[in-house]
Amino acid sequence: MRIFDPHIHMTSRTTDDYERMAAAGVRAVVEPAFWLGQPRTSVGSFTDYFDSLVGWEPFRAGQFGVRHHATIALNPKEANDPRCREVLDVLPRYLEKDGVVAVGEIGYDSMTPEEDEVFAAQLALAVAHGLPALVHTPHRDKARGVERTLAVVAESGIGAGRVVVDHLNEVTVRAVRDSDCWLGFSIYPDTKMSPPRMVELLRAYGTERVLVNSAADWGRSDPLLTRATGEAMLAAGFSDDDVDLVLWRNPVEFYGQSGRLDLSDVDAEPTFAGNSILRGGG
Ligand SMILES: [Zn+2]
Repeated sequence: MRIFDPHIHMTSRTTDDYERMAAAGVRAVVEPAFWLGQPRTSVGSFTDYFDSLVGWEPFRAGQFGVRHHATIALNPKEANDPRCREVLDVLPRYLEKDGVVAVGEIGYDSMTPEEDEVFAAQLALAVAHGLPALVHTPHRDKARGVERTLAVVAESGIGAGRVVVDHLNEVTVRAVRDSDCWLGFSIYPDTKMSPPRMVELLRAYGTERVLVNSAADWGRSDPLLTRATGEAMLAAGFSDDDVDLVLWRNPVEFYGQSGRLDLSDVDAEPTFAGNSILRGGG
């Protein structure tokens, strides 16, 4: 089973996770820029983080045979902090970089006027830079959040086929499918979405335009839940080809729209060479 995790925050994970992911078949990941727990107080903290998403983290992933790409944005939570607003000015420089395959995560956290403004500005950046957009949906008041998200996306002029609306569940899936945006699902150990529920959604809505991710962030999460979803699909009677579509070809097609996805030699056996540099400095 070859796996492309289209939304995973590797910055918050250990090298043990990379080893387990590689062994489970994860060959490629996209790491979206998001919040870091501790609030950031200046634009410099963001640029260091963005540099790490396009520099250090792809290098670290490469040690385990995992191809790493990033999406860059000011995340919805920090869009509310005026100290972070300058981040919008540095985004264009990052949106031109080779390893950056979308603008994201953008969208709503608490649906404030500040978030409205930053969301629309970043959709305009996606259009200007010819990039797809990864859109986070709020964890509270989800149905209203998705409705408003889809309205802002439609108004922005970006093609629906270039947008993935993420963290969907049974309540929000239909509206997004009807919008022609891509459907993103984050599989978690005990919240949001589980492998058995995901299988039911795939039965009901099909496998087209569906992206399944493990998100794997600061909260309780598991970077192997993409694999677990693939196994659950097979156990439920889906074919190997269905699993390959959802866990590999769909994310390749979606992020391939950036023209920057580099998956050359990605099926080569991981060598684990070069780990010594990660061990150095204790
Ligand atoms: Zn995320």
